[in-house]
Order: sequence, then structure tokens, then C-alpha cells
Amino acid sequence: MSGIAPLSPIEAARTVGLSTTIPVEVIFAAGLRPLDLNNIFITSGITADLVEQAEREGFPRNSCAWNKGVYAAARGLGLTRMVGVTQGDCSNTHATMEMLQAAGLRIIPFAFPYQPEDAELLSLSFRRFAEALGTTLEEAGEWKRRLDAVRALAHRIDELCWRDGRVSGAEQHLFLISCSDFFGDAQEYGRRAEALIAQTRSRAPMPQMIRLALVGIPPIVEGLFDFLEKRGARIVYNEIPRQFAMPDPTRSLIEQYSRYTYPYDIFHRLDDIRAQLKLRHVDGVIHYVQSFCFRQVQDAILRKNIDLPILTLECDRPGPIEMSAETRLEAFLEMLQGGLTSE
Ligand code: SF4
Repeated sequence: MSGIAPLSPIEAARTVGLSTTIPVEVIFAAGLRPLDLNNIFITSGITADLVEQAEREGFPRNSCAWNKGVYAAARGLGLTRMVGVTQGDCSNTHATMEMLQAAGLRIIPFAFPYQPEDAELLSLSFRRFAEALGTTLEEAGEWKRRLDAVRALAHRIDELCWRDGRVSGAEQHLFLISCSDFFGDAQEYGRRAEALIAQTRSRAPMPQMIRLALVGIPPIVEGLFDFLEKRGARIVYNEIPRQFAMPDPTRSLIEQYSRYTYPYDIFHRLDDIRAQLKLRHVDGVIHYVQSFCFRQVQDAILRKNIDLPILTLECDRPGPIEMSAETRLEAFLEMLQGGLTSE
């Protein structure tokens, strides 16, 4: 079904909107339901309308469409509160949260430190966040242990994609990216993940394909995974969604979020990217960049530090992949295919 149905007042009172992965354990520990508005926006079936709505309400045309989608999704749901990540996510967060505050939402701030080594600052942020939601770090730690089991299912799905070839890039993407809010219900996430894993037992492994990595912000366009698979290539490493699933098991909550690379500088991300490219035998890298996103600048650093062919793919609006992007992707795959057959 298309569209965004407003939440009932009772649902709105127990829901907290997110615009990125934050310590979701704290929200569950407070007895509340996390909801990642990026996921609501992109699966709404009315993405273009939501972007236009945000523009009518004041967002400039030359600003990031993900921000507009998050804003319009929060308004459409009738949310009453939202977490604003003031450091470690998006340079536009302040203005987007101000727009939502002006619309009557309560904004709960959360800040990652600039570097993960700053455990003191990270711990202070956690304590303040827990206090703001009326819970404690001990209760959040309990939720970490419960979510460890659910995240293990996400890691298994990732492995079934890159190692066994029994899960498609699109399925892997859905289950990894949904670890930001676990569909608002960790038990439901667990049930759906177990059902997919069970289904894969009767699947034949996919034929050998060009092995790709997708690094950077999740793409706003539809159908990228299917487009590539129809042309003999598979995304076997999905950088940021994999990070949302907290791939390195840790004992403590703070340690878990200090190993999570996305909020910190590009160099922490690079260590993870290089290790995974090697482990997963990747042939080529797609660096997705969103129009008007400050992270585009990081393309130069990635190119200097990754020793594989890289295609930088920039998209602006949601919807099907534009023909010019399709042509560039096809040329990239042909180039990779040529390299593989001559090896
Ligand atoms: S794509 Fe970039 S500008 Fe847009 S919301 Fe994400 S971090 Fe912000």
C-alpha cells in the first residue's frame, strides 16, 4: 500500500523517530519504539510527493532529498519526538531538526564524538541520552544482550549473501539497513530474518558473478540491486548497512558504538572497507554519493586509498535509476568483465 498513514495518538506517544543509527538499545530500554524515517520514506511508494512536500514547506530544491524525505515522513506520521544526531551523521541535521521543532516535535539530541577513541565523551552522550528518555545504561546494556542474538541473524544473512550466494543483494540490504530500528520491533525482525534464513536452505547458490562493493550513503534510487544482478553482478559488500548491524561483537554497549564506523572520520571507515574488500574478494567498488551531500568530498580520499576500480555514482531524487546512470553502470561492468576474462 502506498502512502504514510498517521500514527494513532497512543502509537505516536510511544514512538521515537530516527534519521540514522543511534543507540537503539536506549530507546527499547525506555519502553519505546524506534522508527527510522529513512526507511519509512523510501518504502512509502510516494517518495516524489514527500520530497515535493518538503520543498513546499521550505527545503531548497538544491538540498539533499534524504533530508526532505525524513522531514516529510516525520510530519506524515504525526510524530511527537525525534532523535537529532548533532555530531556524527549529517551536516544538515541542525536545520532539519529545527524545521521539525518548529512543527511541534520534541528533539532529543545525541552526539557521537569526532573520534571513537574518545570513550569518555561517548559515555557521557549515552548517559545524557538515557536520562532524556527516562532509562539507565544498565537497562540499555540488558537490551544490548537481547539484540546481540537478533544482530547475529543479520550477520548470518550477510554471510549467506557474500559467502554462500544464497541471499540476493536486495535481501541483504533490507535486513542490514533495517538494523537501525529493527522494524520498530526486534522480535518481529528476528522472526522475519529466521524465515529468510530457513528459505535459503532450499535455494541453489547463485552463479558466479562480478563481485561488487557498495560504499557510502545508501542509494536513494530504486532497483539498483536487481539492475546489477540482471547484468551478471552482485553487491557482496554493503558498507554502511553492514555497519548498522554492528558487525563486530563486543561486550559493552559503549565499545559497540565505538567500533561502529559510520559516525566517525573516513579513516576509521577505510580500515573496515579495505579489510572487507579483501575478505569478500570484491572486483569493483561503487561509491554512491547523494547530490548536495557533504560526504561527496570523501570520494577523493576513497579513491586514493582503495586499490580497485571505483565508479562514483551520484543520484539526486528518488525513483528509478536514470538512463545516464544506467549507461555508466553498464560501462563499468563491461570494464570489470573484461578485466576478469583477461586474468
Ligand atoms: S545523504 Fe548526506 S546530506 Fe543527505 S541526509 Fe545523508 S548525510 Fe545528510
